[in-house]
Amino acid sequence: MSDEVIHILGAGLSGLAAATILAKAGRNVTVHDIRKDSGARFDGDFQGLENWTQSSDFFDEMREWGLDPDGFRSTDFKQMDLAHPDDTITIPQSPRLAFRIVERGTDEHCIDQGFKRMAIKAGAEIRYGSKVDPETCTIIAAGPKKTSAVAFGEVFRTSHPDHVTFQLNDKLAPGAYSYLIVIQGIGLICTCLWRKQKQSNRYLNETIAWYERMYPDLDREPIKRVGGMGDFSLPNSYYHDGKYYVGEAGGLQDFMWGFGMRYAITSGVHAAQTILNGGGQEYDARIRSTLLPSIRTSATNRLLMNRIGDRGFKRVATYWMKNQEKTGDGLLFMERLYKPGLFRRMLWPITKQLLLRKVQLTDGRTARRMPFRKALKRDEWEMSVRANEIAEEWKSIRSSGGRVSFGENDTA
Ligand SMILES: Cc1cc2nc3c(=O)[nH]c(=O)nc-3n(C[C@H](O)[C@H](O)[C@H](O)COP(=O)(O)OP(=O)(O)OC[C@H]3O[C@@H](n4cnc5c(N)ncnc54)[C@H](O)[C@@H]3O)c2cc1C
Repeated sequence: MSDEVIHILGAGLSGLAAATILAKAGRNVTVHDIRKDSGARFDGDFQGLENWTQSSDFFDEMREWGLDPDGFRSTDFKQMDLAHPDDTITIPQSPRLAFRIVERGTDEHCIDQGFKRMAIKAGAEIRYGSKVDPETCTIIAAGPKKTSAVAFGEVFRTSHPDHVTFQLNDKLAPGAYSYLIVIQGIGLICTCLWRKQKQSNRYLNETIAWYERMYPDLDREPIKRVGGMGDFSLPNSYYHDGKYYVGEAGGLQDFMWGFGMRYAITSGVHAAQTILNGGGQEYDARIRSTLLPSIRTSATNRLLMNRIGDRGFKRVATYWMKNQEKTGDGLLFMERLYKPGLFRRMLWPITKQLLLRKVQLTDGRTARRMPFRKALKRDEWEMSVRANEIAEEWKSIRSSGGRVSFGENDTA
């Protein structure tokens, strides 16, 4: 067995998944992260681990790979509220487990810390605050570089029971969606912006006002504001010049909704397994055969979503519910959205042309990147009276110590 140290750039989900598998196989692994801890890119926000892009349950997959899904807190959901653009609320549900909510950040129960503990237990060394030349690393797992979309949210205390609402609304979340998640007395209201805006806080304030109106028993007590950016791109190669590109650093992200955790962990596992057996070309081939088809399909879905606005969102929500009535399983609609059927495969050349821009990467590869779209005329509107009050309320919380871990000027 080789004594050579395998260096990994980035101690996020993809890098730590790879480190765990490699260290368990007896390899010497050092993970470098520029930040002070795993999860420090995030700040206690909730994220959804989806269960619809692959046919198997994700936690079963993790166990098969030798990763421990019980090492961090997760909450199972079989249903959620779906808010249509006309404020109708319906309930997609499934007899199966549809998704899990996990927390991102540096607290002990966060998924990032669970993965950190797994990697250390397996024998990997992690160096935080470590700036190294990517050229010295075999696995590049450093997360997003550029911005294709952003999300802003507010974390608050509430007495509301555990709950998830997913809202399709082109005004409050331009081109995308907003969501409310409550787990164990902590809530998050988040809006995603798939079109670049000035004064992005306006969207969050108005979104909070909307949730307050629809869920009067939310009794929000704001704690902090959080957010982040997403990088959506399709490189011409996932293995280049001796380096394996995993997770968001490899552009492995869902273009439609931004669900990237499952792709990140899965690609980290593939990288480690092919380093142990098969090599870089095998890694590239595996990504192309297992992950790329649903990612490409999500890009075509994104192209369609970009064109439709609220009338189209309403049609999507109505079709989803009709499909559920017919099949008895709301998850089937989501699974179908990610299946590369004939229609979406035929649209792929158009998606490439209209949605993506060819760019040269500094490491010598090329990629097709989804640029952050410009704002539209309809994105100009005045905040409601309640949204203005929420903005003022936040200003005073902030001046008395309320944290902001991602601001409107953080979009590179
Ligand atoms: C606000 C928001 C909400 C999201 N919601 C969801 C969701 O609900 N469901 C979902 O599946 N996905 C969601 N995502 C996407 C998901 O967070 C990412 O796809 C996933 O974290 C990517 O994992 P990764 O390992 O590639 O990167 P990360 O987990 O971000 O890890 C990258 C690591 O690399 C480190 N790093 C960066 N640069 C360097 C460097 N030069 N040297 C060393 N280290 C470096 C960083 O500090 C970080 O620790 C969301 C993203 C955002 C921003």
